[in-house]
Amino acid sequence: MQPTAPAAAPSAVESQRSSSLPPVGQLDAGRPLSGRERFFPEATDAQWNDWRWQFRNRVTTVDELVKLVPKLAPQAEMQREILRDFRMGIPPYYMALIDPDDLEDPILKHAAPLHGEYAFRDVGEEDPLGEEQYSPVPGITHRYPDRVLMVISNSCAIYCRYCTRKRIMYEDAVPDVEIDRMVDYIARTPAVRDVIVSGGDPLTYGTKKLESILAKLRAVPHLEIIRIGTRVPVSLPQRVDDELVEMLQKYHPLWINVHFNHPRELTPEAAAACDKLSRAGIPLNNQSVLLKGINDDVGIMRQLVTGLMKIRVRPYYLYQCDPVRGAEHFRTPISKGIEIIEGLRGHVSGLAIPTYVIDGPGGGGKIPVQPQYLLNYDPLRKKALLRNFQNRVFEYSEPDAAQAHSGELRPMRPSQAVPNANGAGHTDGKKTSNGSAPANGNGNGNGNGHATPNGNGTAKKTRVRADGQPVVGKSGWVHRGHSREERLQNAAGDGTRNAAEKRSTATPPPALDGAPATARPAAPRTRNAPGT
Ligand code: SF4
Repeated sequence: MQPTAPAAAPSAVESQRSSSLPPVGQLDAGRPLSGRERFFPEATDAQWNDWRWQFRNRVTTVDELVKLVPKLAPQAEMQREILRDFRMGIPPYYMALIDPDDLEDPILKHAAPLHGEYAFRDVGEEDPLGEEQYSPVPGITHRYPDRVLMVISNSCAIYCRYCTRKRIMYEDAVPDVEIDRMVDYIARTPAVRDVIVSGGDPLTYGTKKLESILAKLRAVPHLEIIRIGTRVPVSLPQRVDDELVEMLQKYHPLWINVHFNHPRELTPEAAAACDKLSRAGIPLNNQSVLLKGINDDVGIMRQLVTGLMKIRVRPYYLYQCDPVRGAEHFRTPISKGIEIIEGLRGHVSGLAIPTYVIDGPGGGGKIPVQPQYLLNYDPLRKKALLRNFQNRVFEYSEPDAAQAHSGELRPMRPSQAVPNANGAGHTDGKKTSNGSAPANGNGNGNGNGHATPNGNGTAKKTRVRADGQPVVGKSGWVHRGHSREERLQNAAGDGTRNAAEKRSTATPPPALDGAPATARPAAPRTRNAPGT
């Protein structure tokens, strides 16, 4: 099926909706066309949801592309030149995400040969990672001790313009005899316990062919983990059908690395594909490439990583773009990658923060590069200076073996005493240097739910929670239960205020994400508290 020239312009967001919309003819009056309706109005749902139809109908020529994105017409000759070097392939599904009115559209830049690629066509290397230098047999790269890369395919659903392996994209299947040689290498190398099956994209094979390869690998006794690297859930999510998922789950432990670069790729279709894989027990990790003009922005990366977490995909790596030929315009300074990680750490869950890595040129392997949080470290004094995500500095003391006590028996400190059988007799007052237990900040004396003598012999009042239940344990701060206003009122009423409140009102911590400090809830603060 040939694509159809565009009618009205959809917005970037609208172009994401694609196949979740009703068929043409049932549209709400006035609603802008989706990318699918605009570019491929004749596609039936059956065709659109058939990955083979999507694969066959990829946009592969400059004429097809310019028909869909007329603004690219002035670049057509350059594009023809580029395609002599590195092919183009854009599935209709991915094409439908593109805003044809915006030549800066990040989805377009991923997939279409543009001016920058032409300008830098002679800059960069064919094999920037030295994969072929570390290749004991064609198709295998054995760089790390216990794992190998196995390139089983020379084709992809989409050809990303920054691809490190553009040198191998011939679109002819890797012969079975070569795949058998790769499997044989793994079988006779007992150190290999983990294989990364990649390409090209392994999921461009039919399910039976892919299964024949996975079955041979699974028959290798010392091979523990099989990982598949694929961009299909992003560029051609229709490929993740029931037949594929049922087959994959026979070869556990099997992991999949996916490759989302931009939050606009997180469509309902991509989410459904990831969900299918997750339900089959396949852990999903994401590898993004840092790309100038596409995702070199903290806000975009926050959207991406939090969006990935919502679809149960763990952000795994953020790669510095490799110096591959024709991709120089996508490369950023290293400081940009550090800035992005700095903009994530503390602002999103640690689970959502990828490791920023630079592949050592010529085969050095992945080298992690992170912002510096350890400002100073003195192992002799056993002290370190650390900064947190707000640039607050903390001194941290390492354990000091010299402080260990001699081993002779001595009475427990009051704070370590446990309740006796009837629950009484335990005090949480800490002895001060003069031997008396200090009152806590609200001046009521401290207790564990029973009025018991505290360290200086005076009866302590029972602390109670908002629901009237006694507070147990040493610290009641999680039980305070009252709103801050109530606590302040209480404090004003009896002329007391607990120490945490005093601290929180006196010295609010620095603002988070620019929120005014006064607008933030007061939180009890402990010095250097770990695990928060
Ligand atoms: S899907 Fe992966 S291997 Fe294929 S072109 Fe894109 S980056 Fe390269």
